[in-house]
Amino acid sequence: MFNKINTLGGYFHEYQKSVSEPEKFWAQQADSFYWRQRWTHVTQWDFEKPTINWFCNAKLNITENIFEKNLYTHGEQIAIDWEPNDPNEASRQYTYQELLSVVNQTANALKREGIKKGDTVILYMPMVPELVIAVLACARIGAIHSVVFAGFSAQALADRVRDAEAKIVLTANFGYRAEKTIALKQIVDEALEKSDLVQRVVVYQRTQKEVPLKKDRDILWDEFLADTSTDCPAEILDSEDPLFILYTSGSTGQPKGIVHSTGGYMVYSAYTFANVFQYQDGDVYFCTADVGWITGHSYLVYGPLLNGAHIVMYEGVPSWPDSGRMWDIVGKYQVTHFYTAPTLIRALLTMGNEYLEGKALSSLKVIGTVGEPINEDAWHWVHDHIGQNRCPVVDTWWQTETGGVMIAPIAGVTPTKPSFATLPLPGIQPVIIDNDGQEQRGNSVEGNLCIRYPWPGMARSIWGDHERFKQTYFSQFEHYYFSGDGVRRDEDGYYRILGRVDDVINVSGHRLGTAEIENAINEHPLVNESAVVGYPHPIKGQGIYAFVVCPQTSTGGEAGIKQSIEQGVNKLIGPIARPDLIQLVPNLPKTRSGKIMRRILRQIAAGDATSLGDISTLLDEQIVDIIINEALVDV
Ligand code: ATP
Ligand code: MG
Repeated sequence: MFNKINTLGGYFHEYQKSVSEPEKFWAQQADSFYWRQRWTHVTQWDFEKPTINWFCNAKLNITENIFEKNLYTHGEQIAIDWEPNDPNEASRQYTYQELLSVVNQTANALKREGIKKGDTVILYMPMVPELVIAVLACARIGAIHSVVFAGFSAQALADRVRDAEAKIVLTANFGYRAEKTIALKQIVDEALEKSDLVQRVVVYQRTQKEVPLKKDRDILWDEFLADTSTDCPAEILDSEDPLFILYTSGSTGQPKGIVHSTGGYMVYSAYTFANVFQYQDGDVYFCTADVGWITGHSYLVYGPLLNGAHIVMYEGVPSWPDSGRMWDIVGKYQVTHFYTAPTLIRALLTMGNEYLEGKALSSLKVIGTVGEPINEDAWHWVHDHIGQNRCPVVDTWWQTETGGVMIAPIAGVTPTKPSFATLPLPGIQPVIIDNDGQEQRGNSVEGNLCIRYPWPGMARSIWGDHERFKQTYFSQFEHYYFSGDGVRRDEDGYYRILGRVDDVINVSGHRLGTAEIENAINEHPLVNESAVVGYPHPIKGQGIYAFVVCPQTSTGGEAGIKQSIEQGVNKLIGPIARPDLIQLVPNLPKTRSGKIMRRILRQIAAGDATSLGDISTLLDEQIVDIIINEALVDV
């Protein structure tokens, strides 16, 4: 196996090696995989064009590294424990050997449909094992999968089908979410109304209920798999052949179809999984992300399975049948590793600790978060109450575009600090650049978070729009990959993500990160969540507008709460960060992956909500109208 870090000294040693001799370092990590043909160069790259190649001319199949490479030792081990939405329904289980058989069957079924290397396949499916199986089946034959989160609307799906030029869509009749069923097949039908490219729709029957099938186009899953062999030779791919397309969460605007490669992504997702989480044989790893997001790709499917891990996959929502469901799952499967998002932690935190009573949490060893800055309150709650002061909390910073974790503690090795992603992983060279393009060296500095040197897991392009790839990530700051996020390196050299650069507020010449102000507001005992944006202010340049979710109003009413929020911010950051406007709102506009969409709030605060741009990734459009109606400025 590749180098596993288990001491802080070991981390610094590996990090040094990775910076002074990156090619040697990555070749060493890549050596532990199964390649059909070795690379001629470790990397060839040019950030100007940009072109990025890793393990050049090497040949491989990622599924051979999940299965064939590990079958001898892991064949009988559980790969997937699947927990259904309804706790009373039977769970399902696959060993690695069993998983390989059905992956092969599905791969053969896709081949029978004429799908071959380089073709795109859209997966619009609920969180059932068949989704993971379909992902791996595509990888087995070299088809490029594009998973579209099954909460997206027909329009959003149609856009993604068109963008990928897919000829086949895999879906399910229905999906379960809490007590609701979602008519996925119907949404697919609607999305395909205007598409004549898609010739085949495969329908997994999640429920008994029948759905209309379009003649010559639709086929049921069982029929699709009928008479397929459990053997399917892996298609041999070039290291740089695309493995998948995945759209970003859409927090900032038009979603981008990020393209990931095969060889580099494999090495990076596996390496980071093993090191960040410190997973060991016998552990049980539960990631709450949907496969429709990058976290699901890298740390539910590829990273863990490449390491022969035992994963738990959950179909439903965290708060159903009640807010203790996550902890029931932890107890039932004896989960050791729990990887989730701050939004889920904030939601469960507000429900109160009574949902923790009687839950068996003692199996837990490591807790991880990703997706947004985690505020200190949420960090402490999950650390103290879920991790019982025993488990390291790893706050992992990364992006769809980075393919895997970039800045994060190594669990149990790197000393943590609430709301800090701490230190870069080996191979990652973060640079802080100010708005004039000057690198900010040393500690106690902040600015735009860029990366100096390529890493194997980084995106290769935006599907069908390489120019946009260049514009978005490689043109703001010459010679660097630009993440779009703001960051501070504190006096200890620790990194704290300040939020997206677009969200940074400039008050009288002071740059304030939204994450920090929100963190201070969220410290208020009655506040669930908040979102802070800047708005035009005649004197200060920008004023601070805070949208605050605060369901219970205490004595003193609204005015009292607002006042105590102001006092709290004053105390924690200083008067400079005190909000000028505080609007209490029932909820915040969020993406379907649970992230706050500050872009919309910024427009409302600016008094212009006439055109909100692409809001197809928004979870609940109604909340926008409610916020507009009660806005503290004229909209
Ligand atoms: P879009 O790019 O379409 O606007 P998105 O950036 O939300 O959507 P993702 O790639 O899923 O799409 O999310 C990556 C972003 O999430 C990061 O750029 C960062 O802003 C935020 N993020 C992820 N992890 C963390 C973390 N640990 N701390 C702070 N922010 C994080
Ligand atoms: Mg982004």
